[in-house]
Amino acid sequence: MLVLHYTGMRTAEAALERLCDPAAKVSAHYTIDRDGTTYAHVPEERRAWHAGVSWWAGARDVNARSIGIELVNPGHEFGYVAFAEDQIGALIALCCEIVARHPIAPRRIVGHSDVAPPRKTDPGELFPWRRLAMEGIGVWPQPRDDAEGMIDVAASLARYGYGVPPSVDWPLGDTIKAFQRHFRPSCIDGIADGECARLLGALLDL
Ligand SMILES: [Zn+2]
Repeated sequence: MLVLHYTGMRTAEAALERLCDPAAKVSAHYTIDRDGTTYAHVPEERRAWHAGVSWWAGARDVNARSIGIELVNPGHEFGYVAFAEDQIGALIALCCEIVARHPIAPRRIVGHSDVAPPRKTDPGELFPWRRLAMEGIGVWPQPRDDAEGMIDVAASLARYGYGVPPSVDWPLGDTIKAFQRHFRPSCIDGIADGECARLLGALLDL
């Protein structure tokens, strides 16, 4: 898996210091600053501590099966801003290298919020998932206008990889919010409407 994050700290310096502090018990394989400068902290074959309590496609130990990339951004707590062009360019280049080295299926390229819905909102609704998909990184759904909106949302989210009750101990609404933050960022309310259903259906067709 490939898990994308934002640092959620006031400055890049503070984030880098924390990621390099053994006492903080957090780490990531890479951090990308807003100007595109990329820091490698942990070799890809080694486990880093970026995902925490998490779930994807039946597996809880996401750290054991993923590469984690942090993007410098103050995040929702300290003033969430759009990701910088140079930063996204560097991210796309790095992701292309990583998927060339490791067999990572597009559905397994996710945000931290996708694997830890009740705790996390990063990389957040401003993250350009569609643009990455156009570069071959991850997926983006193209729903047909005539697609039937009536699907079992919980079962469909689970089929895609999301944790839903009773497999996980958080409410379905948290998972729906995570799905919306990734695939339908214009409205993140935790309520699966017809558009969410069409997007989910399109994702499962890919
Ligand atoms: Zn994170």
